[in-house]
Amino acid sequence: MALFTVIGLGSFGATVATQLVNLNHDVIGIDNNKRNVESISDQITHAVIADATDEHVLKELNIQNCEAVVVAIGEDIEASILCVLHLKNMGMNKIWAKAKSKAHHMILTHLGVDKIIHPEEDMGTRVAQSLSYPMVSRYMGLEDNHFIVKIEIKANQKGERFQHLMDHGSGIKTILHKRGKEIIYSIDPNLILQEGDILVVEGELEPLRKLSARFK
Ligand code: ATP
Repeated sequence: MALFTVIGLGSFGATVATQLVNLNHDVIGIDNNKRNVESISDQITHAVIADATDEHVLKELNIQNCEAVVVAIGEDIEASILCVLHLKNMGMNKIWAKAKSKAHHMILTHLGVDKIIHPEEDMGTRVAQSLSYPMVSRYMGLEDNHFIVKIEIKANQKGERFQHLMDHGSGIKTILHKRGKEIIYSIDPNLILQEGDILVVEGELEPLRKLSARFK
């Protein structure tokens, strides 16, 4: 269990804060909008109404011992930059920040922010990926064009032999097969796939594209 601070409790910041609490962490949430603070106050450890562009206020809040600070202010770029500057001056070791534009991103990079998040773009990419590859319910990009992908077997694949399906995915490694609550790591090539089965596979984009064609 760790302590995190989320500054800016709009829909993005509030989601980050409550999800961290769901993961058993303590969260200090800060926003200068009373309504946003009140609506989350019973869901996180401390919810504070404060102006995050005021260095004295930030120091008084005693957030120095946090594992990380997420600056989730997007629209008011000046406020976001000032807040990050103060956090840097305070010696915060891990700062993540939301960026609204390319210019905002560039400034945050120069300020030494550890991770810059573009929630709308990231979500847009995910929606486009799901529309383009409907069988992919989750994916994670790794280095060097590699992806880990969660595939859900739909009605048109049911009855197919696992090995037959994977013959179309040369270079792809299957990490696990899940049916109901049962997870199998070494999969019988003769396994007959059922609707609702989950396969988690790993591979490069091109072979994954070829495999995905089987699901169209
Ligand atoms: P989201 O896209 O997450 O819904 P939003 O579009 O509502 O966010 P943003 O401008 O990104 O609005 O701001 C997120 C939050 O940051 C808002 O709740 C806003 O009140 C808060 N905020 C803005 N400026 C400050 C500040 N100086 N100090 C503290 N909180 C601030």
